[in-house]
Parts: sequence; C-alpha cells; structure tokens
Amino acid sequence: MFRLREKSLYLEGPDLWVDSMRSRERCYVSHGHADHAREHRTVVTSPNTAAICRVRFPRRAKRPDRAPVVFEEHAFNEPWEEGRHRFTLFSAGHVLGSAQLLVEGEAGRFVYTGDFKLAPSLTTEAPEVKPCDVVLMECTFGRPQYVFPTREEIAGEMAAFARAALEAGTVPVFYAYSLGKAQEAMAILGQAGLELTVHHSIDAMSRVYRERGIGLPAYEAYDEATFAGDRVLVWPPSGKELPARIRKKPLRSAVLTGWALDRGAHYRYGVERAFALSDHADYPSLLRYIELAAPRKVLLNHGWRDFVHRLRRLGIDAEYLEDHAQLSLF
Ligand SMILES: [Zn+2]
Repeated sequence: MFRLREKSLYLEGPDLWVDSMRSRERCYVSHGHADHAREHRTVVTSPNTAAICRVRFPRRAKRPDRAPVVFEEHAFNEPWEEGRHRFTLFSAGHVLGSAQLLVEGEAGRFVYTGDFKLAPSLTTEAPEVKPCDVVLMECTFGRPQYVFPTREEIAGEMAAFARAALEAGTVPVFYAYSLGKAQEAMAILGQAGLELTVHHSIDAMSRVYRERGIGLPAYEAYDEATFAGDRVLVWPPSGKELPARIRKKPLRSAVLTGWALDRGAHYRYGVERAFALSDHADYPSLLRYIELAAPRKVLLNHGWRDFVHRLRRLGIDAEYLEDHAQLSLF
C-alpha cells in the first residue's frame, strides 16, 4: 500500500519514504534540491544525486551525535527487487542526477516523477518517459499560459542581454539556483563566448558536475580581491545580497525562472529582466508526458490544482493528491 503520511509519500511494503522533508530511516531522494533532499539514515538515490548530496548536506563534523548518511545508489535503468516489488530509477531531466521512480508489482506500474522537464538541456541527463498505469507527477506550470520559448531563443536573449550590459560598461548579473539552473546558464553563456564569474556555492556544485563528466565552460569563482567587473556574474537568488564591491558598480540584473512568463515577473524579483529558463516541464510538456506514459490514472502534486479539471476535460482520469489520500494501487 502506498500512502501519504505527514505530507510525504510512503511505500508501506518496502518501508520506503519518498522525498520526505523529515529525516527518516530510509528515504528515496529524487534529486538534490533542498525542497526534496534531506539527510536520512539511508538515502536511496542515483549516483549523481548522491555525489551532489555529499557536497550539499551540512558537514557531519557539526553534528557528531548523528550517524553518517548511508547512500544506497542505483544507476538509471538497473532495477532491483524488494519483496514483491521491482524498483527502477530513470532520468527526470530536471538537474544532474534527477530521477523518476518506477515501482512494479502485481497490480501494475506506478511512476513518481519528482521534478522533471522534457526540454533538452546542455548539462542534465536526457529525460525518459516510461509507460505506466498510474503516475504521480508534479504540475508546477500546469496552466496553459506556461509555454516556454525554445532553449535557443532563450539562450540568444540571455547572451544579447549580457553583451549589451558589458558594452555599456555595466556588470550583467544572472540569478540562478546553484544546482542545475546555474550550470545550464554557465553552459549557455559560455557557448556564447562570454567570460563567467560565479558565487562559491555555484562553484561547489559545478565541481560535482565536472567530476561526474559534464562539460562546463571555463569560469572563475568570485574573489573579492580580483573581481574587476568586466565579466558576467552568475549568482544564486538566496545569496542575492551581492558583495559591496559588486554593488558599487553599475549593474544590470536578470533572473532565470519559468515564472518569467508572468506579467511583471521582473518587478516581483526586483530585477531588470526575467528569462524563462526553467528546469520544469511547461504546460505542453506536462500533456506530452501523459500522452507518452499513457497512464489510466494521473495523480498530481506540487502545482496548480485546476490542472486536474483541465485534464478531466480532456477525458483523463486525474486527481490532485490531498494530504490524507491513500493510493491503494499496490
Ligand atoms: Zn527541483
């Protein structure tokens, strides 16, 4: 039996939590973003996500009272058995290492997508869609107005923005999450021949990307002593408070987010421009996923509840997963 316990998916038979926000004995972690990855006694995940978590989790030295996290790593498409169930991780195309979870049992095939995207990426494993009976999918951009431009269009606009800023003697700053979005931005801007300086948290994640075989352009980690202001800055939104040395310079700032499609998004983020570079599936991609997976039931979380009604109008059996729901498939 699958159930939702304390807002997390819990698989009762194999005693496995899924992306739980509370520390558990054994938990599957779909990817390294902080809203999915917590330290558990045993973390079940892909090798690339394990590499990211080893860097991201707070240093053990600060918590000597707690036992170190044990990583149970499973490569994509290498299934393992537990009791009467077979488990397989496969790529979600969201950030490096991001996985979807397929659970097969007597009653059929269940897929938990976690965060995913179908659009091509320069820095993430290509996504996969597997046919299934029931899918539990995120629907962050589950409204029809969210149709992202092509990656080429976005890349062209980002590079033009950066070049114009540099030519005007200003510093272009791109705000991007340190895991995933920042590396994609670096790859795009690097391909355009722009020189990059990044925040140390982005440097830390980029080192993991390189160690795991993802090619990134040359860049410098920000150094107060040497930063001259003639390069493109990539900075995490959480570290938005820029160092005084940068703030003294004339800046042109932009944020990279799917919410860029909302009117006035740049005002909301306090920046000059917003570019719709997203790690999530846009509305057509959500529908495309359902078409390819062809499930008899779609369960939704992390997104717009009205996506349920849109799917039902298309003849798709869909339900938004409430906190106390039980999934009696298995
Ligand atoms: Zn994520």
